[in-house]
Amino acid sequence: MTAATRYAAAPDAARSTRDCTDPWFFVLFNADRSLAPCCWHPAVATLAPGESLDAALDGAAIREVRRQLLTGALNAHCADCPARGLTDPASLARRVHAEMAALQAG
Ligand code: SF4
Repeated sequence: MTAATRYAAAPDAARSTRDCTDPWFFVLFNADRSLAPCCWHPAVATLAPGESLDAALDGAAIREVRRQLLTGALNAHCADCPARGLTDPASLARRVHAEMAALQAG
């Protein structure tokens, strides 16, 4: 997506990341065995034959997308994401921790 076709607000200094927890709580597992963190982002990894889904779900590629969101160093897909609003990294970290705690509490 180019700046000319952007239809989501661009990140800025105050709101440098997306208010998105998908890479922690959602996965798109395609028929070709590729994994994407959401419906918008391209696949970041492909499950190898014999590789466990659990390992892929916490693999380096998806952890990198999480790191980018938590630091505001977004890749181009997240920066241009039309699905999630903007926030600051500290607020996103609080939301991720709260959602993890709620999940673990059942
Ligand atoms: S592309 Fe959008 S929905 Fe997907 S991980 Fe990035 S911010 Fe979240």
